[in-house]
Formats: sequence, C-alpha cells, structure tokens
Amino acid sequence: MSASHEQPVRVAIVGAGPAGFYAAGQLLGQRRAPVRVDLYDRLATPHGLVRAGVAPDHPKIKSVTRVYEKTAALPGFRFFGGIEVGRDLSHEELASCYHAVIYAVGTGADRRLGIPGEDLPGSYGAAEFVAWYNGHPDFAERRFDLSAERAVVVGNGNVALDVARMLVLSYEELAVTDIADHALEQLREAGVREVIVLGRRGPAQASFTNPELRELADLQQAEAVVDPTEVELDPVSREWLERAGDATAKRNVETLADYAARTPAGKPRRIVFRFLRSPVEIIGDRRVEGVVVERNELVVGTDGVPRARPTGVRERIDAGLVFRSIGYLGAPLPGIPFDARRGTIHNDRGRVTDPTSGLPLPGVYVAGWIKRGPSGVIGTNKRCAQESTDRLLEDLAAGLLPQPRADPDQLIARLRARGVPVVTYAGWQAIDAHERSLGELQGRPRVKLVRHEELLARALGSSRQGTPAQPPAQRAQARG
Ligand code: NAP
Repeated sequence: MSASHEQPVRVAIVGAGPAGFYAAGQLLGQRRAPVRVDLYDRLATPHGLVRAGVAPDHPKIKSVTRVYEKTAALPGFRFFGGIEVGRDLSHEELASCYHAVIYAVGTGADRRLGIPGEDLPGSYGAAEFVAWYNGHPDFAERRFDLSAERAVVVGNGNVALDVARMLVLSYEELAVTDIADHALEQLREAGVREVIVLGRRGPAQASFTNPELRELADLQQAEAVVDPTEVELDPVSREWLERAGDATAKRNVETLADYAARTPAGKPRRIVFRFLRSPVEIIGDRRVEGVVVERNELVVGTDGVPRARPTGVRERIDAGLVFRSIGYLGAPLPGIPFDARRGTIHNDRGRVTDPTSGLPLPGVYVAGWIKRGPSGVIGTNKRCAQESTDRLLEDLAAGLLPQPRADPDQLIARLRARGVPVVTYAGWQAIDAHERSLGELQGRPRVKLVRHEELLARALGSSRQGTPAQPPAQRAQARG
C-alpha cells in the first residue's frame, strides 16, 4: 500500500476549476514529498466556474486565473483537457495509474423547486442560463426566450443577483465583457424591463455578499427598487441579527433600506426585491404567464435559525420568465459513493468514505463544491482544498496510499488511440491566445470560442498529432 518516497508521488486531480487548481498548487508547492500532478478536465478549457460561472461583468474576480497560471507553470504539472471520467475512462482505470485521485468536479445542476409548472417554457434554471451567457460549450445551442417584460428570479444568493443583473445590463455594459457573443446578441434584443428577486425568508437572511448587492446602485440603465415595507424587520429577524452579529447580513439590510429610501431615478429597467414569499406554482397556458407565491412568516427552529413558514396567503405575480436560482447539485460519478440528498460525494474532511462502513477509500479524495456543497466564494476553495491535500499527505506519510499499477502516459496514449481528443496545457494556451487576440480587436478581454469543435480544433491544431477530434456527444454515441 505504500508509495516509494524516491519516486514522485503521482496524483490525478479531476476538475480544473478553482478547487482543482488550489489542490494542485498545494501539492506541488509542499516539500514533504516530491509530487507530480495531472489535472484532468472534461472540457478543453481549464478554470471551471471562473470561466463558465463568474459573471462577465466581474472581470476582477476572474483575474484569479493568474494564480492558476503560476500553478500550471510549476514543474510536475500537466493538464489533460477533453477527458471525462465516467465517459472516456472509469475511476478504476484512472486510479490504477496514480497513488491518489482527487475529485474536484463541482456541482453543475440546478436544484428544483418541485412545484407545478416548473417545466413550462419560459421557466429556466439559473445554472443553464449562467453557463449559456458564459459560453460553456454544452450550452452553445441553448435558446432562451427573453421577450417577456417581467422576470422573476427565485432565490436570494449571489447567483440570483448575477442573473438579475445580466437581464438588465445595457448593451454597452455587456459589450466590453467576455460574455458569449450569442448571449450578447440575444440580451440586446431582450424585452426584460423588470426583474423581481424573490426571497423565501427576509432581507436579514439573504445570502448576498455586500459588494454584489451594493453594485446594483451603479448600473447604467437599471435601478434597485425596494418597497419600504419589505425591509421592516420582524421581531425574529431583529433578535436574530443582534444575536448572530452577522456583519454581512447587517450591511445587506442597510443597503436594502437605502434602496427603499431612494427616490426612483427613472431608469428604464428595475430590479425589485420582494421577501418572505415562496413560489407555489408557475402558471401559464403554453408558456409562463405568472407565478403564484405564498407569503411566509419567520419562525425560529430548535437550532436557532429563522425558517420560513407559509401563512396560507397567496398572490399572483404576472411574469413571462422565471429563473430558479436556489442552489446547485452535484452529479454522481460511477464507482464513487454519492450522497444524493446533499448532491455531494461522501467524505470525511476530504477523504472519500464508504457510506456504510464510514471507512476511507484508499487514495481517493474530494475537494471544492462536490465535497462541501455549493457555498462560499472562490477563495473558500483554497481552504477546502488544503484540508483535502493535508489528508492526502498524512495518508502518504502513513503508507496508506495504493501503489499505481499502470503508467499515466500509457493511459493517455490509450485514450488518444480511442479517439479521445486530449488537450494539453499548450493546447489551452493556444485557445487562450486566440480568444484574447479576438478580444483585443473589439476592446474586450477575450471573445470566447463556444463550440466543442472549434475549441478542440484550436487546441489540437497546436498541440496534437494523431486522430481527428470528435466532439464529446459524438464520442458518447460512438461508445454506446
Ligand atoms: P446560495 O447563496 O446558497 O443561495 C441560494 C438561495 O436559494 C438562498 O437564498 C436560499 O434561501 C434560496 N432557496 C433555496 N431553496 C429554496 C426554495 N425551495 N425556495 C425558495 N428559495 C430557496 O447559492 P447561489 O446563489 O447558487 O450561490 C452559490 C455560491 O456561489 C454562494 O456561496 C455564492 O456566494 C457564490 N457566488 C459568489 C459570487 C460572487 O462572489 N460574486 C457570484 C455567484 C455565486 P434560504 O437561505 O432560505 O435557504
């Protein structure tokens, strides 16, 4: 079971988002044992949600990729894009080549509300909308009917704010970003004039971060609107704010109260906040025409946390578009124990565990959202990955890592022979340079390539010899 300390320890990390990159940097940067890291991603591009999740008008947040570029330049680092574990190879096949595998695959699917009408045309999940406007290649052909004048966004997190903002930003604000071209054009034509952001609890319980709520004051053609009655705190929230002493929540309430006190500036678009309302039905004949919401009151549970309790009072909000932005769920990977209720991989502080025995699976770890659920900002993944890489190094020191039985180079050669278009870091750099040069011509950070085929063609044109590239869907079909 033990790894020889003379030979470098070989670690595969699956998922090249923030958690995967932080884990890679931590392993390559430590001095306890020589480590080599192969970072796999199913896409040709690395950076996960920094590329496909962070809103295009938040370029500062995206500048974190410079840290990941430094990691990629460390000796012992390799990137293999275009390979999906569970589709192109099994966990067992991958694990046989490494002392350890860390899964950092994130949580890509939208949670569902579970109410009637949720699947009507015009009702969408935030995750798919976010992936679409960010040019995720799986969503390049997706179409959203954005002709409605009023949209409802369900949820009080930062993703809800991203979605609301994207619907009301001006063409000029969007045109200087790296938004996907297809989304830029469709949002230019969009009819949305009002977005209602719906919270099931009160303003004090919203999970917005302060800058994200405050920046709504600075939009060119949209303003934040709050009815003063919406920010009057109920006794439960007042007591809870005092007791919990949550500075973020207090500042959110102040910002919302500030919006409520403002005289409307008369901008053509509005983001309206409504609280203590849960959607109970999405209505419409052939497409969304409105949302029935039920008023809630707050009650404190035995854990001291205020929860929403329905009052039975219902009202209808006319709207032609609904986005549910109520959190993300991970997807199971064949052969890896999965907690379907939480949408995460079973683990103990980063060690993947068998749910029945509670015992760790030797050499298998997890980091990021698929480990702890979809919470926190990008930097949170650094601490999260550290906990996991610490466990891995502890297990290495204790001689608990399995010895690899096969060679990763042979695995890569085998995948290429099977027609998997393996993208190296040089391939990604070719995509990156191309996108940036297109962007330069238009005064934008980059113009994204949004189709699997064009991403692969650009990447493989520079870095790859051998079999012609097949996009993932065709490959999956070919493999049955
Ligand atoms: P989130 O912060 O967990 O917010 C989810 C929201 O959905 C909560 O307000 C929650 O209300 C609500 N909700 C859950 N189930 C619901 C239901 N059945 N009906 C109505 N409302 C429901 O998640 P997120 O917005 O998806 O963001 C994920 C993470 O990414 C967060 O940590 C966020 O801060 C981060 N993020 C950061 C940025 C940024 O820094 N700019 C941008 C985007 C995302 P309750 O509180 O009542 O459960």
